[in-house]
Amino acid sequence: MINLETPKKFRPLIGQAHQVAVNLLRPNSRKYDLLEHAYPIELDMLAAMIDGMSDSGASTGAGASGVRRSEEEPEDDRVKNGSNLASVLSIIEMCWGDVGLLLSMPRQGLGNSAIASVANDEQHERFDGLWASMAITEPGTGSDSANIATTAVLDGDDYVLNGEKIFVTAGDRCDAVVVWATLDKDLGRAAIKSFVVPKGTPGMNVERLEHKLGIRSSDTATIRFEDCRVPKDNLLGSPDVDAQQGFAGAMATFDNTRPLVAAMAIGCARASLELTKDLLEDSGVTIDYDRPALTQSAAAAAFLQMEADWEAAYLLTLQAAWMADNRQPNSLEASMAKAKAGRVGSDITLRCVELAGSIGYSEHDLLEKWSRDSKILDIFEGTQQIQQLIVARRLLGKSSADLK
Ligand SMILES: Cc1cc2nc3c(=O)[nH]c(=O)nc-3n(C[C@H](O)[C@H](O)[C@H](O)COP(=O)(O)OP(=O)(O)OC[C@H]3O[C@@H](n4cnc5c(N)ncnc54)[C@H](O)[C@@H]3O)c2cc1C
Repeated sequence: MINLETPKKFRPLIGQAHQVAVNLLRPNSRKYDLLEHAYPIELDMLAAMIDGMSDSGASTGAGASGVRRSEEEPEDDRVKNGSNLASVLSIIEMCWGDVGLLLSMPRQGLGNSAIASVANDEQHERFDGLWASMAITEPGTGSDSANIATTAVLDGDDYVLNGEKIFVTAGDRCDAVVVWATLDKDLGRAAIKSFVVPKGTPGMNVERLEHKLGIRSSDTATIRFEDCRVPKDNLLGSPDVDAQQGFAGAMATFDNTRPLVAAMAIGCARASLELTKDLLEDSGVTIDYDRPALTQSAAAAAFLQMEADWEAAYLLTLQAAWMADNRQPNSLEASMAKAKAGRVGSDITLRCVELAGSIGYSEHDLLEKWSRDSKILDIFEGTQQIQQLIVARRLLGKSSADLK
């Protein structure tokens, strides 16, 4: 039987995340949207609280660092609701509060997910407590991440990195950057590896910060690497170039991070839906769940359609995270969730602006901000179109060379 209830054991976590969203993220949402590039100091206190909760064992997998897959055989055949699902559920709540501030949370960067996903046990311990951003994109490489030009050359006990990374979320504020670089461009995608580069390493420099449409409280950096030396033990996973495995090692990160980004879109869209529902009801529009949408007002019908789309994105996202917790391959489901939630998130938040008219467009409320914030969730960690391509390849059994 399918049980669509939220697992009971996560209810306290969801409640805590919601309280943080209500009391800390929402009240600071507009402030840091206007103060682009100012560091949200309020988050330091929150990070300390989360660290305390993790240390005491009171919270597991509340953020991006919790998406580690267990290598051990499960003790029995029972299904598991683990840290991937916990992360998704708490991120939904936090992004109901504010997406940009969630992306600015110390020690919860997408680089932390990469470390959690592919680091060995020794690295996992060594990099524990770092705030890590993720640097894949380059001036000549966006969606086509197999085309990475940043190089890593082994020299003694170090790799020497050279190249430029752009649009690095939390790239200025983080403690370390997880950098994708190629060991040998001639060997293709199998030679792409990720390296943890701590901040302050000579040769790594933040060159500038972007001004953006949305998530303006989150810093987005351009970082240059010039003869930047990192210990060879900072290569995440295996240094071997395995042409059979191809890109699979590096791509494993995405199976865990795409549901997290989908969760961000779902949280932000839920915020828009809830406020819009209140505004519609205040202006006399009744939404009746017992009558067909087409027999109701156009606004009510539009709202019901949006809620149905939202629910589909929500369930796909829970499924992808749940599969990761239960050690099931989930690349297809992670891409489905990201494609659906990214699109639905953008559509819903913009449609809510439309339904609320001038209230939706003005800065008195947050509807206009949510429509700006949600667009990036349809772009980073692989655009909607790229997710659709991955889904098509998997369903049709085509390789990336067959279907471009
Ligand atoms: C605010 C922000 C934060 C970001 N944070 C990070 C980060 O932390 N780390 C990081 O590494 N990157 C980050 N990025 C970069 C982001 O991941 C890329 O922008 C994204 O991968 C798309 O790459 P691109 O911008 O080069 O677009 P392109 O790849 O040039 O794509 C342009 C358009 O063409 C479409 N397209 C491309 N190829 C195909 C195809 N084969 N079939 C159909 N359509 C296609 C795309 O879907 C898109 O609509 C961030 C970007 C932004 C704006």
